[in-house]
Formats: sequence, C-alpha cells, structure tokens
Amino acid sequence: MKSIQRRTILLQVAGAGIGLLALNSTAAAAGPKLEESDPVATGLGYREDSAKVDAKKFPKHAPTQTCAGCQLFQGGPKDALGGCPLFAGKQVAAGGWCSAWNKKA
Ligand code: SF4
Repeated sequence: MKSIQRRTILLQVAGAGIGLLALNSTAAAAGPKLEESDPVATGLGYREDSAKVDAKKFPKHAPTQTCAGCQLFQGGPKDALGGCPLFAGKQVAAGGWCSAWNKKA
C-alpha cells in the first residue's frame, strides 16, 4: 500500500514538472511586443500598423501586406501578436510590416 502511494506521488510530481516546463516554454516564446523604436525595427522600417508605412521610402509596400500574411510570422491566424525570427524574443503585430516582408506560401 505504501509503495503505491509513493509511486502515485512521484507520478504527480513528474506530471507537475512537465506542466511547468510547458508553461515556461510558452512564456519564453511569447516575449514582449516589439517597439517601433527598437534599432533593428527602425533599420527594417517596421511599423505596427502596415497602413502607416512611408510609401516614399518603401515604394514596393502595399497596405495589404501585413505580418500575418508574411512567411516569417509565427503567430496563429487569430493572434494579434506573434513571433518573428528577425526579432528574436519579441512579438510583432499581426497588422504590422517591415521591409523583409515575404508573402506567406
Ligand atoms: Fe512582420 Fe514578416 Fe517583417 Fe517579421 S519579417 S516583422 S513577420 S513583415
């Protein structure tokens, strides 16, 4: 009886540990929102709102181009924010844009 209780407790502790690891990796993947003032963001002409991109500076930009439609966007279709490998540890706006935009396949 005692060994069954010990095994049950060990399994519960192991399960809780796995749950904490999963939570931790989700939080790490989320990261803070990318600010337009970030030096890398500035260099790539990143804007949180694709409609506000400077058309003179980026003549190939179209307002329909957004991070959500970019090959590099790591968020889901309904996410307001998502990861982007160009801005590791931060999240870009689904409606944002930068000059590295590449149409999602
Ligand atoms: Fe958005 Fe794509 Fe630029 Fe990343 S590379 S910031 S997803 S447009």
